[in-house]
Amino acid sequence: MNVLPPWQWPRAAYIHIPFCAHHCGYCDFAIAVGQDEQIDAYLDALALELQTLGTPQAVRSIFLGGGTPSHLNCAQLERLLVLVRRWLLLEAQGEFSIEVNPDSMDEAKVKVLADHGITRVSLGAQSFHPHLLQVLERLHGPDQVARAVEWVRQRIVNLSVDLIFGAPGQTVADWKSDLDRVLALEPTHLSTYGLTYEKGTPLWKQRERGLLVALDEESEWQLYREAIDILEEAGFEHYEISNFARAGYRSVHNQVYWANEAYFGFGMGAARYVLGRRETNTRDLRTYLRKILAGESAIFQSEELGEEERARETLAIQLRRAEGIARCRFRLQTGRELDELAGEAIRRQVELGLLRDEGETVALTRSGKYVADAVIERLL
Ligand code: SF4
Repeated sequence: MNVLPPWQWPRAAYIHIPFCAHHCGYCDFAIAVGQDEQIDAYLDALALELQTLGTPQAVRSIFLGGGTPSHLNCAQLERLLVLVRRWLLLEAQGEFSIEVNPDSMDEAKVKVLADHGITRVSLGAQSFHPHLLQVLERLHGPDQVARAVEWVRQRIVNLSVDLIFGAPGQTVADWKSDLDRVLALEPTHLSTYGLTYEKGTPLWKQRERGLLVALDEESEWQLYREAIDILEEAGFEHYEISNFARAGYRSVHNQVYWANEAYFGFGMGAARYVLGRRETNTRDLRTYLRKILAGESAIFQSEELGEEERARETLAIQLRRAEGIARCRFRLQTGRELDELAGEAIRRQVELGLLRDEGETVALTRSGKYVADAVIERLL
């Protein structure tokens, strides 16, 4: 067991599976579409990259993200899970998560996941409205979401569902019915993301050409406010700007990111943060495979932040959490005093009712959550 603090040495690991059946209109993740013949070589490469750990590492969270990990067939999934567990030893009560899509799930895959230690499934539902799924260019229909949930629930209790709000043409009534439908599935955790138009994505191109009209900011805020009201009323804790959990079901993995702690990362496009250095692997599948299979590094970007930069980054990230920033822990983690960095700006945001300062902690108020990005920007 490594004795370095968790912001230096990882207690969490991310493994990226880039393969997808199709490119959704809004997506700018590192993905590979129509290249399924490379999946086995990709698993060979992951095995080699994991081997660079030297010795198996104890972690409290492993996250298989994508892409679409559930796009792999049963045999490939099994190989992946065995491989990951060979190098990453999950602590007792640890979390082993996988992202899945409704259209690539079946009962046999759920069995493989459960048999190989998966403890949490994160399902990309996004909406229950066919017209909105179509705008987002998702492959599945609403019925497939319910069926996937049923299969998962036969073996795995901890289920998170992702929803997107702010799609072109989405009304408050659409959104409320999405929230009702998702609550009826009784997930333990929900992530609600506002749609963003990332440069170069099909959706961004359509907006640029005037083929669709994005929702205005006020309408988006209204949807966000509805989500907070409805989900809190239903007993979910709003523990991060975009995330809600039943008691005891916060995502262990994401809490590592939001504490700005260290994590391992493996796979095409994967990022890692180890011993204060941030690194990102190449987003190009062929380059990733060529380099790793030749025994070379696939790192494409690498930087080591200075103390002040690291402290500012920690401030920006930790403020996203409901518990905000704890001054004492912040000092320990960054070597800097929160008030030296942003004391005056914090006081101003407290006067505006956007932050609350409780002495030991500083956190967003409810109004502050609506404009979190602007508040964080002012503190920086
Ligand atoms: S399934 Fe997920 S990762 Fe794949 S293209 Fe769609 S949004 Fe992106």
